[in-house]
Amino acid sequence: MASVSSLTSTLLRREILDLHPYHVPDSVGYTKLDAMENPYLLPSALRREIADAVASADINRYPDPDPLSLKQKIRDVTGLPGNRGVLLGNGSDELIQLLAMAVNKPGATLLSVEPSFVMYKMIATFVGMRYVGVPLLSDCGTEDFSLDLPATLAAIRREQPALVFLAYPNNPTGNLFSAQDVIQIIGASPGLVVVDEAYYAFASDSFIPHLENYPNLLVMRTFSKLGMAGLRLGFLAGDTAWLEQLEKLRLPYNVGVLPQLVAGKLLEHHDVLLQQAEQIRQNRAELYRQLNEIAAVRVYPSEANFLLFRVADATKIFNCLKQRGVLIKNLHGGHPMLNNCLRVTIGTPDECAKFAKALMESIDNNMEQNNA
Ligand code: PMP
Repeated sequence: MASVSSLTSTLLRREILDLHPYHVPDSVGYTKLDAMENPYLLPSALRREIADAVASADINRYPDPDPLSLKQKIRDVTGLPGNRGVLLGNGSDELIQLLAMAVNKPGATLLSVEPSFVMYKMIATFVGMRYVGVPLLSDCGTEDFSLDLPATLAAIRREQPALVFLAYPNNPTGNLFSAQDVIQIIGASPGLVVVDEAYYAFASDSFIPHLENYPNLLVMRTFSKLGMAGLRLGFLAGDTAWLEQLEKLRLPYNVGVLPQLVAGKLLEHHDVLLQQAEQIRQNRAELYRQLNEIAAVRVYPSEANFLLFRVADATKIFNCLKQRGVLIKNLHGGHPMLNNCLRVTIGTPDECAKFAKALMESIDNNMEQNNA
């Protein structure tokens, strides 16, 4: 009888054996500023409304496979033009996977920029698709992590990607690429271009109004950052001709009864969530101002609900922050352009103040140790 470990290594694909799992640290007891969640609770009246709705939910039944009223609410809050439709995903991660599966003919390529959202590359690996990452412009002068347009256009001509992902704003850098550059990329792409607007609620621009202009453009959004990370709901918006085809790949019950119900209720109160997003933007401006004043920190402008910053020794600072009860994300080692970079999610003013204080102490500690 073969052992389990010899079976796994003979049966599983080499790429899967070589993958590092997406690591989610234990966050219990920490001030949790690592995962771009909305820190605000819902008003208690709305929580009660949700509790009542959940109490009478038919959880013995499969969910509605095509929840038209939820889709209509999404269309309304998104301001979708004309005959553009929506395809629902169990988080937008699932939609990235669905898109990759859909276009993955033999030899097909998924192209993105780097550093960007790591799941684009990981999912290409999951589905056995070629992946090409074009480096962003490095962080010198004013060109911080912007698109390298000539290099990206050259890669598109050379690789003829079936699928391009651009996060707008980008994660983990936080910046919004030039819309003109993105338009040129869409125009030059032979394949599908997906503008991933996971952080739309905190950004000053969107490609939703451009959907009508480009037959190869889809916009992807998630409600995770807007206060519904636990529900797992994302969507693709675009021409119904695309969505009808992609719909065939969606697992019939990918969005459960409770996420459908609760998200539907929350979208009726979209204004509450947008107010929270506006508060988060204000908290972001204040934290940016504070970090910008610290000589040992280089903080980057952000249109998302997090800030990327660079220090002398990211791993030391990350660990010092953890010792002080604050959990953020250490990006050091993930990509050469992110050497000694950390990413902090924007929390409440109290959480931001706790983080800023802990950061100052950690930097001071580090300097003292270096001088000792
Ligand atoms: N796109 C980007 C750019 C992200 O940063 C994230 C989450 N980190 C996602 C998509 C996935 O979000 P979710 O699966 O929660 O919808």
